[in-house]
Amino acid sequence: VREWLGPVEVQIAGGEPLLAENLLKLVACARAESLAVTMTTNGFALTAEMAQRLAAAGLQNLALSIDGFTEVHNRIRNREDAFALAERAMHHATDNGMKVRVTCVICEANLETLPGLVTWVRDEPRLEGIFFQAMVQPFGRPPQAGWWREEPLFPKDGARAAAVLAELLQMKEAGFPILNPDEQFGAMGAYFCDPDRFALTRCNVGAFGLTIEGSGAIKLCGGFEPIGDLREGHHLRDVYRGPRAEAVRAQMSACERNCHLVLNCCFDTGAVS
Ligand code: SF4
Repeated sequence: VREWLGPVEVQIAGGEPLLAENLLKLVACARAESLAVTMTTNGFALTAEMAQRLAAAGLQNLALSIDGFTEVHNRIRNREDAFALAERAMHHATDNGMKVRVTCVICEANLETLPGLVTWVRDEPRLEGIFFQAMVQPFGRPPQAGWWREEPLFPKDGARAAAVLAELLQMKEAGFPILNPDEQFGAMGAYFCDPDRFALTRCNVGAFGLTIEGSGAIKLCGGFEPIGDLREGHHLRDVYRGPRAEAVRAQMSACERNCHLVLNCCFDTGAVS
């Protein structure tokens, strides 16, 4: 990646990266190649010792999953100490020089408390800001229309969810440290109002997406077949630009799945209808 793209940022996510045995090695490898490293974590296993070791390996940024303040977060995560552990992780990370931001998934259980959570983030000097994501169909299931009807955590009142998102946008405009682009609030509101029909005008993930699975399979996105395999010994750059990749890219540009990549992590302001 370093040879091909230069000193880009690597984001380590999961699952939960702190459970990965090769995490320290991965961070150290990336830093040895001058790649910036961000890790997304629930923070449960971020002890003082682990924070020191990660910082020594070169971890610079932490995206800490916090879905609500105290009891709200504990209820969503189904453990009584979830918020306390996330707060502990925030302290250990910043004590070791990392920058920490909050990542929050909007759902039924936290909807009415989000403005309060934003205020807490603003008033907490150890935090850089907060990034919101919409709740989408959980990983690992085939896309299914109407999945959200049976999902107790999905916001029941789409119009109310859209109104809260409008309030969050107002808070951002007033200077609160919300990190989403402005256009994403309206897109998420429209999605909550009609999750099956909502779609961005096009999917752009084929233009920049790249996933390497633990098996070695190389994909442009998880919804389409691999474009190659690291075990075949080809250079990643050649696979990415090769004919298999072009064929998959063409299929992806016509994809109308309401995928979490487009709405959340890979949101593109240019793709909003
Ligand atoms: S919308 Fe389709 S092409 Fe785009 S990332 Fe999702 S599954 Fe892949």
